[in-house]
Amino acid sequence: MDHVSAKKRSDIMRQVRSRGSKPELIVRRLLHAMGYRYRLHTSRLPGKPDITFASRRKAILVHGCFWHSHAGCKKAGLPKTRSDFWQLKLETNKARDRRNIETLNGLGWGVLVVWQCELRDLDRTRNTLSVFLEN
Ligand SMILES: [Zn+2]
Repeated sequence: MDHVSAKKRSDIMRQVRSRGSKPELIVRRLLHAMGYRYRLHTSRLPGKPDITFASRRKAILVHGCFWHSHAGCKKAGLPKTRSDFWQLKLETNKARDRRNIETLNGLGWGVLVVWQCELRDLDRTRNTLSVFLEN
């Protein structure tokens, strides 16, 4: 990751950060093709979950592996420069994710986290989504 210049990396990260990032779009497209209707970034719920299904009380969070520190994933891990900064930032993100999921669960919402790296296998993702939404 460190062969990328700091400027370039911050551009990349801004893109990844923005709403409607590519992994989320992939999941939305899958859900749409499967016939599901959903709402996006519902501000009334903790953490503004990416995709929500109010009548089912279910929420899907699409997590970038780097930003959300996907455990054991190749795409996750600390950059070698400014690692203290990144460690704090990523741990804060992770704590926030955990808190949001717990709060949603407490409100009776089911939560599915879809990781960016899982989207390499769309058949499997489709299956995971369907099992989550229908059970
Ligand atoms: Zn991952």
